[in-house]
Amino acid sequence: MLKNFTNALELDFTISSNKEAMLQAFAKIDVEKGQDYPLIIGGKKIYTEEKITSVAPATKEILGKVSSCNQELANEAILSAHEAFKTWSKVSVEERICCVRRLVDLMDKNRCELNAWSVEESGKNWGEADGELCEALDFFNSYILHIQDLNKGLDLVYSEEATKCMYIPIGVGVAVPPWNFPLSLLAGMAVSAVITGNTIVCKPSSDTPIVAYKFVELCEKAGFPAGVINFIPGSGSVIGDFIVKHPLTRFVNFTGSKEVGLRINKMAAEVAEGQRWIKRVVAEMGGKNAIIVDSTADLKRAAAGIANSAFSFQGQKCSACSRAIVMSDVYDDFVAEVVALAADLKNQQGSGRENLPMGPVINKAAYENISSYIEVARKEGNIAFGGNYDDSEGFYIEPTVVRDITRNARIANEEIFGPVLAVIKVESFDEALDIANDTEYGLTGSVYTEDRNHIQKAKTDFHVGNLYFNRKSTGAVVLQHPFGGFNMSGTDAKTGTRDYLTNFLNLKSVCEDLTY
Ligand code: NAP
Repeated sequence: MLKNFTNALELDFTISSNKEAMLQAFAKIDVEKGQDYPLIIGGKKIYTEEKITSVAPATKEILGKVSSCNQELANEAILSAHEAFKTWSKVSVEERICCVRRLVDLMDKNRCELNAWSVEESGKNWGEADGELCEALDFFNSYILHIQDLNKGLDLVYSEEATKCMYIPIGVGVAVPPWNFPLSLLAGMAVSAVITGNTIVCKPSSDTPIVAYKFVELCEKAGFPAGVINFIPGSGSVIGDFIVKHPLTRFVNFTGSKEVGLRINKMAAEVAEGQRWIKRVVAEMGGKNAIIVDSTADLKRAAAGIANSAFSFQGQKCSACSRAIVMSDVYDDFVAEVVALAADLKNQQGSGRENLPMGPVINKAAYENISSYIEVARKEGNIAFGGNYDDSEGFYIEPTVVRDITRNARIANEEIFGPVLAVIKVESFDEALDIANDTEYGLTGSVYTEDRNHIQKAKTDFHVGNLYFNRKSTGAVVLQHPFGGFNMSGTDAKTGTRDYLTNFLNLKSVCEDLTY
C-alpha cells in the first residue's frame, strides 16, 4: 500500500458555504464573459487576429474568444520550449516540486472559479467539475511523490566500480488533451512533463480553451519560468500535424479519439529532417465499454451502476458504459430497472449551472453525430426509453436505452460518446465475455455478479485496462484505479503512476572505474 498519499476530497455542495462559494464564482465569471484570451509563448502573451469562439453547450452563449495559433507561432512555441529546456532540465527536483506545490495551492484557492468555467464551457454539473479538479490535484500530488522516488535512480547490484543509474529529462513535449476533461487531463499532461524536467507546448481542445487558459495562467503564477509551459490554442487540423512533426518535438502526450491518436502515432514515427531521436507517443483513446449482468446479480444495483456509467456527464466519458450485456433470464427485469432510472434522469436534464444530473452534449457536431446514431439504433433495435433530442436552446439529448441489439450492430461496436446505451441479450456467461471482448477497444469493463467463478473467469479473460466488479465503470480515482486502456483504447500509460512518469524520462547508466 502506498503511504504518504491522500486523494483530494470533493466538495459537498449540500453544505451551504460550498454552494455559496460556487454561486459567487458564477457571478464572478459572468462579469468576465466575452473577453479575449491570448496565446502564451515563452512567457509572452500574444493576441492573434484569428479567434476560437468558446460557446456554452447548455445555452449557446458565447463565453469568450481565444487567440488561435498559426504555424509560425507554433514554431516559436516549440523553439521557446527548446530554449527553456536547457535550463529547466538542470533545475533541481526540489525546485520543480516547489512550483508544483504552489500550483496545488493556487488551484485549491481558485477551485470554485475553475469549476464554474468548467461547468459553463464543457457542460458538466458541479460535482463532475469538482471531481475533475480533484483528479488534477491528485495527479500533481502523486507526481510529486513519484519524482522523489525516481530521483533516487535505479537500485543496482554491488560492484567495485562507482555505478549509478539516473533518470533524466528528455526534451520538449506536446500536450494534446480532449475537451471532456479539459482541466485534469491538460494539467496532468503538463505537470507530468515539467516535474520530470521537460518543457511543454500545450494545445488545448478548441471546445474548451478558456478552462485551459485559466490553468496555464495559474502555472505562471506558480512560478514556472517562461517557456517551460507554453499555451497555443488552435485548430488541430492547422497546427496539430505541425507540432507533432516538428523535429524538436521529443514526445507527444495525446488523449482523444482513436482516429486522431492513430494519425499522431503514425506521423510521430516519421523522422523529420534534423530530428535526432525517436519520438515517444502516449496516446490514450476511446472505448466501447461493456458491463455484464449475470443471473445472480443484484439487478437494482446493476441498473443503478449502469445508468450512472452510461448517462453521467451525458455518456461523454471515455470510461462510459455503452453496452450492457445481460443474461436472458434477467434481461426484461433489468431493462425495466434501467428504463425507470433513465426516465428519472430525463426529468432532471438541464444546464450544469443549475447543477442537474444530466446536461447537454458538447457541441453541434457531437449533437448531430449522437442523434444520427439514435436513428441507426431505431433500425437496429427497439428504443426502450428516450431517443429524443432538441438543440433549440442548447445541445440536449435524452438518456436513451436501446434493447434487442445484437452483437454485430453498429451501435454495439462504434464509439458514440453520448448518452446511448445498447442492451444485448446473452444465454451464457461465456457468451457475455466473448461479446464484451469482441471490440477493437479495451478500456473499461465491469461485471455485476454474485458468482465467484464468474468473477474469477472475468479477472483472467475480460481484456480491459480497468476492470471492476459490482460497481460502475466510470470514476477511476488516481492511485486507487490507475487508468489506461488496451488495444485501440491506447498505450495503457496508466496516469498518476510512477510508471507513467518514465514515459518522459531517459535512464542514464554511469560507471566510473575507481582504480584508474
Ligand atoms: P479528438 O477529436 O480526437 O480531439 C482531441 C484533441 O486532439 C483536441 O485537442 C483536438 O484539437 C486535437 N487534434 C485534432 N486533430 C489533430 C491533429 N491532426 N493533430 C494534433 N491534434 C489534433 O477527441 P475529443 O472529441 O476532444 O475527445 C473525445 C475522445 O477522447 C473520445 O474518443 C474519448 O473516448 C477520448 N478520451 C479518452 C480518454 C482516455 O483516457 N482514454 C480520456 C478522455 C477522452 P481540436 O479540438 O482543435 O480539434
